[in-house]
Amino acid sequence: QTTLKSGGKDPYPDWKAGDPVPYAALCTTFSKIELTTKRLEIVAHCALFLRQVLRLTPEDLLPVVLLMIGKLAADYAGVELGIGESLIMKAIGESTGRNLKTIKEDQQKIGDLGLVAAKSRSNQPTMFKPKPLTVRGIHEGLMKIATVEGQGSQGRKVDGIKKLLSSADTNLAKGQSIDITQDMGGPSEAKFIIRALEGKMRLGLAEKSLQVALAHAMVVHDASKDGKKVPSETDLKKGEEVFKAVYNELPSYEVVVPALLKGGIWNIRDVCKLQPGVPLKPMLAKPTKSIGEVLDRFEGKDFTCEFKYDGERAQIHFVAHDSETEYAAIAAPTEGKSDRGTSNIFSRNSEDLSKKYPDILAKLPTWVKQGTKSFVLDCETVAWDVEKKHVLPFQQLMTRKKKDVKVEDVKVKVCVFAFDLLFLNGEALVNKSFRERRDLMYSAFEEVEGEFSFAKFGNTHEIEEIQTLLEDSIAASCEGLMVKMLDGVESHYEPSRRSQNWLKVKKDYLAGAGDSLDLVVLGAYYGKGKRTSVYGAFHLACYNTATEKYETVCNIGTGFSEAILAELHAALSPLVIDRAKPFYDHSTGKNDQPDVWFEPRFVWEVKTADLTLSPRYRAAASEFGGDGTHKGVSLRFPRFIRVRDDKKAEDATSSRQVAEMYRKQDVGKNAKAGVDDDF
Ligand code: ATP
Repeated sequence: QTTLKSGGKDPYPDWKAGDPVPYAALCTTFSKIELTTKRLEIVAHCALFLRQVLRLTPEDLLPVVLLMIGKLAADYAGVELGIGESLIMKAIGESTGRNLKTIKEDQQKIGDLGLVAAKSRSNQPTMFKPKPLTVRGIHEGLMKIATVEGQGSQGRKVDGIKKLLSSADTNLAKGQSIDITQDMGGPSEAKFIIRALEGKMRLGLAEKSLQVALAHAMVVHDASKDGKKVPSETDLKKGEEVFKAVYNELPSYEVVVPALLKGGIWNIRDVCKLQPGVPLKPMLAKPTKSIGEVLDRFEGKDFTCEFKYDGERAQIHFVAHDSETEYAAIAAPTEGKSDRGTSNIFSRNSEDLSKKYPDILAKLPTWVKQGTKSFVLDCETVAWDVEKKHVLPFQQLMTRKKKDVKVEDVKVKVCVFAFDLLFLNGEALVNKSFRERRDLMYSAFEEVEGEFSFAKFGNTHEIEEIQTLLEDSIAASCEGLMVKMLDGVESHYEPSRRSQNWLKVKKDYLAGAGDSLDLVVLGAYYGKGKRTSVYGAFHLACYNTATEKYETVCNIGTGFSEAILAELHAALSPLVIDRAKPFYDHSTGKNDQPDVWFEPRFVWEVKTADLTLSPRYRAAASEFGGDGTHKGVSLRFPRFIRVRDDKKAEDATSSRQVAEMYRKQDVGKNAKAGVDDDF
C-alpha cells in the first residue's frame, strides 16, 4: 500500500503509457491474489494494478475491472460465459494438437481444465512467439464467444476459444510438469482464459474487495493528479464509502467507470445516481419463526405487515418519451416501447424479463398516471385467475414460457402487485422513509383489476390483528407476511442487503417447518426399480461466498413425481462432467460419491425437517468441523419443492445462512449429532 500511496514503483515496468494493458500483467496480479487469503493483501495487489492502469492506459479500466470479477458486462445485459467442459476440452485439443482422449485423461487426473490447458500448451512446440495478448483483446474475444448464436454457433465458439488459447502464454518451460496438488501458482494466461470461459475465476477475489481497491486507486490517482500530498487512511475510507453508495444505487461498471475517469471519485456521487434502465439488486428479508419474534425486533417502532405474494420478483422501470434524453443507460427492448415511453422489467437477478412479460409492459400505460414521467417499482408478478378474480398458486406461474412470449398467446395471466417505489420523476427515493415511499407510490399509479394492485397491508402492533392478517394472507393464496419498518433511517431501502428491517413470516415457519433452502444440484444417482432410466436421487450443495466453493449439504430423493424426474433427467444430462470440479467441497468417502457429477447450473428449492451435524456433508464445515467427528451441517428428510429458475448457482443459500439456520433451531434437538438419514 505504501507503493500505491506514494505512486512510486509500477509493478509491470515493460508496459508503456498508451499501450493496451498487457493480459500478462493482469494474470500476474491474478496469481499474486491467488497466493494469499488475506483480504488486505488482495485489495493491495488489485489497487496497485488498477493504479497503474489509471496512470498508463485509463481507457482500458473498464475491461480490466470486468475481467477481474469474471464478467463481460453488467448482469442486465444478459451476456454470460459458463461454457461447458466438453466444448472447452475440444478447443484445447484442437488448438494444441492433442487428442481428446488425452485431454480427458488429464482432466480426470488434474481436475482443473485451466491447468490442463496450461499443460497442453507447454508441451506444444511453438514455431514463433505469438503476439502478446491484451486485456481489451481478451475481453473482445470472450464477448464474441459468449454472444455467438444460431446455426453453427458451437463450432464458432470452439474457434474463438482456439484463437485465444493459441496466443496464450503458459509461463511454463517446455515440458515442465505441473504440481497438481499445489496448483502451479504461476501467471499462466491459458489457465486464466479457461477460468474466465468457465465463468468462475476462483481467485478468492470478492467483488466487494475489487470495489474497495478501485476506490483506493482512484483516491490516490486523483490526489496525485491534483499534485496533493499522499492521501490519508481517512481519505481512502471515504473513497470506499462514496463508491459503495454509488454502486448500490447504480450497479453498472459500464456507467460508473467512465464517470470516474471523467470527473474523479469525489464528484461521482453527483453524477451517478439511481436511474431507470439500470436495475438495482433487490433488498431481501430475514426469516422469523414467530410473530413474537417480529414484535421483539420491532418493539417501540411503527411497522407494517404486507401480504407476501407468491410469484416472481420484478423490478419495473419506466421513462416517458419526453424524459428519455436524461437517462443514457436505458436500453429499450421492443416489448417495452409504447406511446407513453420506454419500459423494462428485471428479475431478482437483474436479468431482463421483458421477453417473458410483454403482456405486463403492454398494459403498463393503463396503470401509470399521466403525471408520472419516470419510475422504478419493486413488485411481485403473480398468476391471476381472470374469472374468479383472485391470485393463483406459484405453480401456475411456472407453466408460463420463459422467453419470446407473444401477448396474444399468453394463457396464464399475471397481475403485478407493487410493494415499493425506488425512483419517481427524476428522483431516487431509496433514502426516504418507507412511509413516504409508499405514499408516493399510491400517488403515482392506479389499480386496475387483474393487471395492477398495491400489496395489501395492515399497520398494527396487536398480535391478534397480525395473526388475522397472516390468516387472511394465506386464505388469499399468499405465503404469509412481510413485516417492514415504516419510519426513519431503518426504513430506507437497502439495495442488495438481507436486512433486519424486512422480516418474513411464512405459514410454514409457524408450523415449525422452517424456511426452505435454495440448493445447487452437483450430482445424481441412477434410479432403481421403476426409475432406472432417470436419476432417482441427487447430491445438493449450498454456496460458500467467502471461499467460492459449493459445499455439499444432502442427498435428496423425495418430492419428485415421475414426470418431474423425467424432465430433470433431460435437463441435467447435458451437464454431466467427468469428475467433481475443484471448487466442489464434498466428502471423498468411497460410498459418498454420486454416480454422475454436473456443472453447477440448477438451483432447487428444498424443504427440510431440520438440520443436523453430519460426518459426510461439508456445509459450513469451517464453522462446525474440527472436532474430528462432525464435518458440516446437513438436512434431515429434505423434500424437493421446485426449480428456482430465477436464481443462479451463486445465489443459492449460503453456507453462512445454513449455519445461522442450524444455530437458530433448538440446540437440544441436535444433541444426537452425526446422523444422516436423508434418502
Ligand atoms: P430470498 O430471501 O433469498 O430472497 P426467496 O427468493 O426464496 O429468498 P422469499 O423467502 O420467498 O424469497 O421472500 C422474499 C421474496 O418475497 C421477495 O424477493 C419477493 O419476491 C417476495 N415478495 C412477495 N410479496 C412481497 C412484499 N410485500 N414485499 C417484499 N417482497 C415480497
